Amino acid sequence: MASSSLPCAVSECKRPSRALCNCCQQYLCRDHLKQHDDLIDAQLPHLADQINALSDQFNNSTLLESSGLTELNRWREDAHKTVGQFYERKCQQFRQVVQERQNKQRKELDRMRSNMNELIREQEATQVQINSMTESIRSFEQDINNLQQVHFKINPLVIDDNLISIPQETTSRDLLHEPPQHQTMQSTSNIVSNNDRHLPANQKRNPSFPGKENRGFQISRFLVTIMDHI
Ligand SMILES: [Zn+2]
Ligand SMILES: [Zn+2]
Repeated sequence: MASSSLPCAVSECKRPSRALCNCCQQYLCRDHLKQHDDLIDAQLPHLADQINALSDQFNNSTLLESSGLTELNRWREDAHKTVGQFYERKCQQFRQVVQERQNKQRKELDRMRSNMNELIREQEATQVQINSMTESIRSFEQDINNLQQVHFKINPLVIDDNLISIPQETTSRDLLHEPPQHQTMQSTSNIVSNNDRHLPANQKRNPSFPGKENRGFQISRFLVTIMDHI
């Protein structure tokens, strides 16, 4: 409590103190208490400006959102490209396999036709040769059918959810900082008054604000793992 026996805390002031300031625990005379109070109030417009700036930044957060989605869309395009390239590679491999099989079949067909021509020319075919040719024809027919009904061994593409992680929390502290309720005991002006026109001094101390947080998605390279086997 104020004590008339204590001098004002301002060094050059000879007046007796009138009140104890709760915010700094200093005994001050009436004039210096008023000055002290005004200095505190004078910081409010600057803080109000900062809140307005934050408000603008907050209202522009749709821009941040779209920049995040741009990353996500780029990932999707890359992923589609990766799938397309994988598909093309498998098509190529399939065409190659079919080509090799058909080359073999063509040779087999030539061989069968040549044998048949020989049998016709010599007119001395035995039943064993007829049976063998019949078996060759059946086998060849089977081979063609098999090739026409090729079934791929295909596993569905499984996408790991961890390929893209979206940060949930970007600040390390609570957003809501309730200020301590400090009041001067002898209140000559309301501390939270907004119409401050007095004492623009002592405003140099800018409260530091947390730097720009890293809001980026964490995106891993898209991997396709399908058995390389037809
Ligand atoms: Zn104080
Ligand atoms: Zn004083």
